[in-house]
This record gives sequence, C-alpha cells and structure tokens, in this order.
Amino acid sequence: MIGTTVRQQAISAVAEYKLKAKTNGSGPPEAIFGQNVFGLAAMRAHLPKEVFRSLKKTIEAGATLDPSIADVVAAAMKDWAATKGATHYAHIFYPLTGATAEKHDSFVNPDGEGGAISEFSGKALIQGEPDASSFPSGGIRSTFEARGYTAWDVTSPAFVIDGSTLCIPTAFVSWTGEALDKKTPLLRSQQALNTHVQRVLKLFGHTSTTRIVSYAGPEQEYFLIDKKFFLARPDLLNCGRTLFGAKPPRGQEFEDHYFGAIPERVHAYMVEVEEELYKLGVPVKTRHNEVAPGQFELAPVFEQANIATDHQHLIMFTLRRIAERHGMVCLLHEKPFAGVNGSGKHVNFSFGNSTQGNLLDPGHTPHENAQFLVFCAAVIRAVHKHGGLLRAAVASASNDHRLGANEAPPAIISIFLGEQLADVFAQIKAGGAKSSKVKGMLEIGVDTLPKLPMDAGDRNRTSPFAFTGNRFEFRAVGSGQSIGGPLVAVNTAIAESVDHIATKLESAIGSGKTLNTAIQALLQDIINEHGAVVFNGDGYSAEWHAEAEKRGLLNLKTTPESLKIYELPETVKLFEKYGVLSPRELHSRYEIYLEQYIKTIVVESKLAIELATTVILPSALRYLTQLGEAAGAAKTLGVSVELKAPGKVAKLATELEQSVEALEAAAAHHGAKDAHAEAEYLCQKVLPAMAKVRGAADALEGIVADELWPLPTYQEMLFVR
Ligand code: ADP
Ligand code: MG
Repeated sequence: MIGTTVRQQAISAVAEYKLKAKTNGSGPPEAIFGQNVFGLAAMRAHLPKEVFRSLKKTIEAGATLDPSIADVVAAAMKDWAATKGATHYAHIFYPLTGATAEKHDSFVNPDGEGGAISEFSGKALIQGEPDASSFPSGGIRSTFEARGYTAWDVTSPAFVIDGSTLCIPTAFVSWTGEALDKKTPLLRSQQALNTHVQRVLKLFGHTSTTRIVSYAGPEQEYFLIDKKFFLARPDLLNCGRTLFGAKPPRGQEFEDHYFGAIPERVHAYMVEVEEELYKLGVPVKTRHNEVAPGQFELAPVFEQANIATDHQHLIMFTLRRIAERHGMVCLLHEKPFAGVNGSGKHVNFSFGNSTQGNLLDPGHTPHENAQFLVFCAAVIRAVHKHGGLLRAAVASASNDHRLGANEAPPAIISIFLGEQLADVFAQIKAGGAKSSKVKGMLEIGVDTLPKLPMDAGDRNRTSPFAFTGNRFEFRAVGSGQSIGGPLVAVNTAIAESVDHIATKLESAIGSGKTLNTAIQALLQDIINEHGAVVFNGDGYSAEWHAEAEKRGLLNLKTTPESLKIYELPETVKLFEKYGVLSPRELHSRYEIYLEQYIKTIVVESKLAIELATTVILPSALRYLTQLGEAAGAAKTLGVSVELKAPGKVAKLATELEQSVEALEAAAAHHGAKDAHAEAEYLCQKVLPAMAKVRGAADALEGIVADELWPLPTYQEMLFVR
C-alpha cells in the first residue's frame, strides 16, 4: 500500500544501498562478445563444411533456408545451445503491439518407450505455429482461424538467453501469409530499397551482387528510479508514466546531471547491462548521463537495419531486466515525468553494402560526390513527399507528450542538412535558375564542385531528421518504440524516391544524355520541388511553425491525426507498389495503432480518477482536518491565527473533486462511430479533462503537509539514488 511510511522506507533503503554489483564479472568485452550467439563462428565450428557454406550463402543473400539442410542446422544448434545450458527453445517475434513475444518449447520429446530424448528438428527451427489469437491482427484474421506462423529470419542469428532458452528470431505471419509483425515488412522494405538503389549504382558503373541494406544505430534514452518508489506509484506501475506530480523546485535547470559523473549505482548497472548485451552479440558502445536527472543513454554501434531492430528489442529487454537486479526500474516511456525532458530513440540511418560502403558518405572524389548528392537528394525528396508517413510511424499516445514539447523535435517533419550541404543544394538551385552560365558551379563531377562536408561539425538538436556528416538521424522516434516501424517507413519512402530517380536517369541516358547532364537536371528539379522541407534553423521556435505552414509542411500534433495518413490512397499505393504492405496489412496496422492509443488513454483516465479520488483527495482532507484541529487548539490557547491554508486547501480539494467529475463524465461517453472517432474524442476531450485533474492535484501537492502526501515525489524519484 502507498502511504508516507512507504515513502520514508524507500528513501532510507536507497540511502543504505550498498554497491553490490560486480564490475569485473565475466571478463573483457572481446572475450565474452557473442558468446551466447549462434553466429558465423559458432556455425563454422559446429556445422559440416558444405552445410556451413550453404547456410552462409543463404544469410548473405537473405533467402529462405534450404529445407534439406535444416535438420542438420537444427541439431547442431541444439547441441551448441545445450553447452550453454539451454533446455528450451523459443521462436521470438515482434507483434504489432510493439512488445516482444516468445513461446517456449522444450527440446524434450517422448521416445515412445517411456523415456525421453532431446530433439530439435529442422521443421521446428524453420517454422513455429504459435496461437496467434492473443495478438491483435487488426481484422486480418477472424478468431476461428487463429493460426499464425513464425518463420526463422536466417539473417538474424539465434542466441541463448538466461542460460536456459535458445531464442530464434522469426517473422510472424497469419495462415494466409499476411504479416502480423514488425519484422516482415522491414525485410520487405529492405528488399525494395536494394532493388532501386542497385539501379542507380548501375548507372554509376557499379554492378554488384552484394545486397544493399540500410543501417541503423539507435541511441536509447531511459530513466532509472528506485524500485521502491516505482511500487509506491500506481501510475508508473500501470501506465509507465506519472499521472500526477508537481515539478520539483530543482529540475534539470543546472544541467549538472548531464555533465556530472555517472552515479556509482547506475554505473554498476550499466556495466552489467553491457556485459549481458556483449554476450548476446549486441555491440553496445556508448553510455552517458542524459539531460534530465535520473536519465541516461546507451547506444550500440550501427548494424544492418533488421539486426539492429532485433538487437534494439534485446536492449530494451535487458535494460529492464537488469534494473530489477539492482533494485531499480528502467522506464522506457517517452514522458514518465512532466516538466523534465522525455526520452527518445534517435535512429541514425544510412544505406550501402560492403563493396560500396556507406552511400550517404560524401566521399573524396567528384565522382563519389555526385553519387552522394543523388542519394542525398533521394532522402530530401522522400522526407518531403512522405513526411506525414514518417510522423505517423512514430505516433503513439506516449510519444505525443514528447514531440513538439521543446525538448524533442516538433511534429513537423523537416530535414536539416547543415550549412555546407545546404549551400551546395542552394547553389545547384540558383545555378539552375541562371542556367549554366555560372562556370563550373553546376557541373557535378568536376572538381570545382564545392567541397562537401566531411564531418559532423555542425549539429542541430531541434530537427527531426538531421544530416550528421555521413548519415541521417531520425530523432522523433520514441524511447519505448520498436525501431522496426520507423525503419519500414524510412526504407520505403527512400525506395520510392530512388525508384523515381533511377527512372528519370535511365530515360535521360536512354535519350542520349550523359550521366552528368542528367544528374544536374535531376538535382535541380528535386531541390526546386522538394527544397521546402530543408530547414536549418531552430525547430523549437514559434516562427518555424508559422513558416512551415507557409511552406505547406504538415504539422500533425496528435496520434489520431497522424494515423489518418495510413488511410490515404497515396500511402496505400506506396506500400503496395513496393511490396511492403498489402492494403489489408496496412489497414490492420491503422486499426491496431488506434486500438493501442484508445486503450492507453482509457487506462490512464481510469487510473487518474481512482488516484485522485482514493489517494489524493483523502490526504487533502486529512490535512484540512489537521488545520481545523490547529485552529481549535489556537482558540483553546487564546491565540489568534489567521491562516489562508484552510481556504486554499478547501478550494483546491473542491476543484479536484469537480474536475474528477468532469473527467468521469467525459470518459463515460459512448457512441463514437468508429475507432478513429473514439481516439479523436479521447484526445480532444478526455486528455484535457485529465490535465485539469492533474492541475488541481499538483497544486495540492505544493500545499498539503509533506508527511501526509502519499505518493513519492518527483524530487525523491529523480534525485534519490
Ligand atoms: P551522438 O550522441 O553524438 O549522436 P552517438 O555516438 O551517441 O552519437 O550515436 C551515434 C550512433 O550513430 C551510433 O549508434 C553509431 O554507431 C551510429 N552511426 C554511425 N555511423 C552510422 C552510419 N553510417 N549509419 C547508421 N548509423 C551510424
Ligand atoms: Mg545522436
């Protein structure tokens, strides 16, 4: 139960916390890295040579596994996993709720003679058949056909977790073959990107069979609080965020947390998180404090997008799990505490392959520069044409608290190029307007082209999509989200742009133009048509909102507004054309995301009503009683006190009760005609009503005697560790 004693106990327990965790556990990173992963090295060691070669080829080409070798691979995998202590296996997948799902099965099978043998067949490796009925399908599957299949994603290696379970990364599809997860469309979008980037590379004279992939490096922000505080906050427990809580007198103003040393307890935690992740082959690289008190960040080295996505899920899982061992809770919600910064997940993005390198790297020669400008223009065009889609891809009830809140990028999707690169495009544009008279300036591929930025010298923290020297950083992604969805949107939008570009260039060259002339015309067209999306200024400023509107850029402030993008004919066509999502698959996502939004707000509003009524109002009244007793005592003593506190408490308590009634009335409405209308209603009516309740409650927190206040305060949760 919550109560002041819990608050006091929690504080003293934290103060007494002794550094328990080992900091030199399993050895140096390079010794433990990947030790629990059935990666190429383990495969080479455990598989017959021909099988290994065949499997490796499959992995590199991204095709499905040859069933004839599946049994051998499965048996070897099982034997390897057994040496790590695994007794069970699980197909893990990422349902559309954004969580990680797994179903564990034992390797043990009856041998038919009363005993049991340990067995793992190729079929069990390649395909699983979880009951899909507990995962939302957004109408794809009717309940009588609940079957779903999981299929091994060979490009993402299996691993052993907790010394007990062999985990096999899989894609999750319905019995009709429709994607019910986040991995399937990601793999498809990678394919689309590969197809069209290869066409452009061919024009530049590069023919290669190595697949083009996109790379992602997600920077994960998170909060850590002591578990005792967490358990004493029903709102954190149920909603992942505080629904009440006055801003502490000292928030993040001093910025001393960001630049300060990592607290010892947190350091021990981070070391253990990293150790666990190293064993799972996740290349964690950086750790540091973040801006808000109690906020931290972890980033792995970038990897191929689908592997980075799998690893990202492992990172979130591990951050949460290890926190428990240290008596803490890791909060991945985008805005657990109002009034201090929220958490994002900046996704650094590029594409390329092992032979071509990073195609968003400006390069050293004019030839490389020209190729870079073409791909860069593709991104500019993609972000302009599909800004709404990128916004929709990061939409969630929790991320709505963060986007546009002057700490995270605005909901307006623009692109930051940095001074030099913006100047290059400005010159291309101006040069075009003045025709080719400005000597040299227009001619991509000659060495008079302005030098391109080579490092991430200038940074812009306010842009949702920023160029940082050799990659783009998609900064609007939320801390608790899977990066799968955002990457699908980015991959597909860019694939469409690259397709457009390839078609233009191919036809120009077909009609006898040189590549250089064709590129010059193309870049000019793109920057003329799509340059409006480039913005290098302060994305937090009010002027930008006005200016963006003039430029015709979307400013989708809420999730219900953003999700509508999924229903637009051009979105449906885009995903269908590139084979990423069928109209039905796309629509199912729209339904599921709306449902998620609705559920979140409904739970939050119910809890707000309950907490206000049963926890906060009673403590206000208790305080009022005390004040009354004090007044009586004063009278007895014959002294006069003229306190304003009773009047203030009474007024706020009344306000609290009235606002709760208003919230109840708003929440009780029925009859929205569909899920979208329902979401819109919750957004427009219920959220503001909740904010009113919170306003009264937070004001009471500032006046009620501290010893009577039942909920751990921001001060305690954020600063006591
Ligand atoms: P900062 O906080 O300065 O943005 P970090 O080092 O915290 O930088 O994170 C940068 C992330 O970008 C890392 O995950 C890094 O591996 C990733 N990254 C670097 N180069 C690329 C690239 N070419 N493509 C995708 N991600 C990249
Ligand atoms: Mg960054």
